[in-house]
Amino acid sequence: MEYISTRGKVEARGFIDTVLMGLADDGGLMVPFQIPTVSEETLEKWKSLSFQELFLEIFSYYTNDEIPYDDLKKMVDASYGNFRAPEVTPLHQVNDSLYVLELFHGPTFAFKDVALQFMGELYSYIARVRGEIIHILGATSGDTGAAAIAGVRGKEGIKICILHPHGKVSKVQELQMTTVDDSNVLNLSVEGNFDDCQKVIKELFADLEFKGRYHLRAINSINFVRILAQTVYYFYAYLHVENSGGRKINISVPSGNFGNIFSGFLAKKMGLPINKLIIATNENNILERFVSTGEYKPGEFTSTHSPSMDIQVASNFERYLYYLLGEDAVKLSEYMAKLQSEGKITVSGELLAQVQQDFSALGVKNGPCLEIISKYNQTYGYLLDPHTACGIAAYEAFSGQDEIGITFATAHPAKFDEAISLTGIQQTFPAEIASLSSLPQHMTLVVNDKPTITRELVGFYEAK
Ligand SMILES: *Cc1c(COP(=O)(O)O)cnc(C)c1O
Repeated sequence: MEYISTRGKVEARGFIDTVLMGLADDGGLMVPFQIPTVSEETLEKWKSLSFQELFLEIFSYYTNDEIPYDDLKKMVDASYGNFRAPEVTPLHQVNDSLYVLELFHGPTFAFKDVALQFMGELYSYIARVRGEIIHILGATSGDTGAAAIAGVRGKEGIKICILHPHGKVSKVQELQMTTVDDSNVLNLSVEGNFDDCQKVIKELFADLEFKGRYHLRAINSINFVRILAQTVYYFYAYLHVENSGGRKINISVPSGNFGNIFSGFLAKKMGLPINKLIIATNENNILERFVSTGEYKPGEFTSTHSPSMDIQVASNFERYLYYLLGEDAVKLSEYMAKLQSEGKITVSGELLAQVQQDFSALGVKNGPCLEIISKYNQTYGYLLDPHTACGIAAYEAFSGQDEIGITFATAHPAKFDEAISLTGIQQTFPAEIASLSSLPQHMTLVVNDKPTITRELVGFYEAK
């Protein structure tokens, strides 16, 4: 399988080179040359597979010619062996028409572990078989950094540096990142906000000389391997709903960067007959506005109870737009140039109709989010985290009669007690989280300034 850029100016390349490149060199995002499709008979056979077996089947379509099956299997076993649920992503039935797919049983209690545990193994494998030096660099508003660090801590041949905005991530997220004491991990706590961190990272990656000299690798969700790893649980969830009685199945996904929901779009393109793909967001509702009006325009940033969805520019949106425009890289490039120059993109007519066929979307405000948490705790004795609560609200808004909803639980409620406590609910913390606050923290506080951050990085990379 070969991969190409949405902007059409990168030579086609294989899976491993695609993973190493991250953002395409022409500024686009990498996509498969042709999306493989899975037949109905195959889907029927896959119903009995475990998460790990399904992962191997799906990845084989994409990696077959580069990664031997046994190597892939070892990586998959290592990635998911330490999840707290044997099913990896268990499906919890809430009532006759609603399931919650729990994606938070990995080491950092959020869905990003599913892809990043594997990505850590994969980078380590690439370092070993290719002799590549892997220096991961990224910025985080909380969950990505924690999951990426958990994915590569202590691994041979890899170093990771994560920037986070000082004092602006949740307490649990900060502790998950900074209590890691492996010497291949550097936490830079930046005086500024997430956008400041992101800006420095973008500049460093755009400096191709620096990127090449220090072997910088990305972990954000523009990396295709993350998208692909996430398609696995769409298949798993859909195929494990029992007694659907012929009812159609909708999937509701708490969304920020459009990464998770794009994995659903990919699963559907591969042949998984999902009925509605529902995008749940919060006050930062650029995606809801796009689906209802066709206008994609970053708005004012608002802090909410679901901070991992506080995003105004959804970095994976370009991948969807590419398919919407009929895989036309020239047209796509024109749209992206327009976004740059005019600050927005607009689609109308048939294209907008297609968007509305592909997705439903709802921005759920803080008030309703907390109400849903209380309601589901009271009615079903099931505690939702605030991101998942937005997903449930969107499921309620769009689920029709004779339809079944699967809502993705993207985080464990213990990770976001700041919001949960506002409902008056007192939760008990899992031991893994409760014990964090007694551990020493490792981080370097830096001013928001590129030369300072560069100096820290160079010192880290050049240390033996
Ligand atoms: C990252 C994150 C999201 C958003 O996922 P995207 O792939 O960026 O759309 C939602 N919920 C939680 C808890 C997250 O950590």
